[in-house]
Amino acid sequence: MTRRLLLVGAGHAHIEVLRSMKEQPIQHVDVCLISPSEHFYYSGMISGYVEGIYSLEEVRVDVKRLAHEAGVHFIRKRASRVYPNFKKLFCQGGAVYPFDLISFDIGAKSQPGQLVPSPEYSHMNDPNKKMVEQIEELRQTSQPLIVGGGAAGCEVALALQAYKARNEIPGQVRLVSSSSVLNSISKRTAKKLRSIMESKGIQVWEQERAEVMYDDYIMTSANNKIRHTGVLWLGGPLADPLFEASGIKVDEKGFPFVTDTLQFTDYEFIFGAGDCVTLETYPNIDKSGVHAVKQAPILYENLRRFSYAKELTVYEPQKVALYILSTGMKKALLVYGPVTAHNKRAWKLKNKIDREYMDKYK
Ligand SMILES: Cc1cc2nc3c(=O)[nH]c(=O)nc-3n(C[C@H](O)[C@H](O)[C@H](O)COP(=O)(O)OP(=O)(O)OC[C@H]3O[C@@H](n4cnc5c(N)ncnc54)[C@H](O)[C@@H]3O)c2cc1C
Repeated sequence: MTRRLLLVGAGHAHIEVLRSMKEQPIQHVDVCLISPSEHFYYSGMISGYVEGIYSLEEVRVDVKRLAHEAGVHFIRKRASRVYPNFKKLFCQGGAVYPFDLISFDIGAKSQPGQLVPSPEYSHMNDPNKKMVEQIEELRQTSQPLIVGGGAAGCEVALALQAYKARNEIPGQVRLVSSSSVLNSISKRTAKKLRSIMESKGIQVWEQERAEVMYDDYIMTSANNKIRHTGVLWLGGPLADPLFEASGIKVDEKGFPFVTDTLQFTDYEFIFGAGDCVTLETYPNIDKSGVHAVKQAPILYENLRRFSYAKELTVYEPQKVALYILSTGMKKALLVYGPVTAHNKRAWKLKNKIDREYMDKYK
């Protein structure tokens, strides 16, 4: 009997699942991909897009085409609720999809913590279409402000500043961070990156939380008034409320737990990968595209094995991650364990890795 598998979200893990299905379909399983966007945006190349090095087409994949090539139905919808006991997925607009097996790769949102947000800023979160649309506006303004001092915030700030320098657009990029910048990597790397940012003319406020936003300035927790001509929120991942609203067991941030086989802890027929889930065995690893990419082959294999009632395989996160942060003008900061290097070779390596990654889906 044919069974139905729903892939929810076209993130870093699911596009690899699609590619694998194109090469080796899962027999007797009818597969649907449900995502609100027809494109997948590759996070590794977003900063290069912001700087103007890559075109939009170079940093995104046509998911509808990829699904079609894999024999997967593409449904352009946003999931809003899942009812595991009835094996049904509800989408915005009221559509309901029954399933036998379901997999989530819907990423995370990054909205300001205690900030009083204007509605128009509340969607500025991941490297998805809406953020991409903001970029052109921010490039032209004189004091764009990035909220968030993680890898994404710092890279985008540096890329915006580099775009301005390349195109002789006057202005100064600003960044405010509730902790010190890059605090999840190492103090030494953070210090290095901060000095690179300052040398490029980026103004950085650390240990200050953006709290209230006005049209042309924000107020911080230190009672500082930071002027801006446009804001981009990259303040860290928040869970999609759909899991908690569906009564699924989640961590304190709202992310559902998955086992090392990438199955939800309470439901073996629900799988998840990438930013949208928390590994119960490694709850503290950073949410980053790298993990979603590494989980993808395990996810595909386990969806296949589960469908054939075979024993599942286990995902083990890598112990030491390679970080290569683009710092603008085709230079990058490479961090691998105790090794740190800031040069053009690091950028060339990043460019090679990223282009090879994208070539698989073009
Ligand atoms: C500017 C920026 C730069 C970054 N740079 C890097 C980097 O260089 N390296 C790195 O490792 N990480 C980077 N990150 C982090 C990285 O983007 C995320 O960790 C990564 O995107 C997570 O991948 P994912 O597969 O979990 O989800 P995503 O790739 O975010 O994909 C989620 C998908 O789900 C869809 N979706 C969302 N909600 C729903 C819903 N309710 N129903 C159905 N579909 C839905 C979305 O449209 C999207 O297709 C960066 C982040 C940002 C913001």
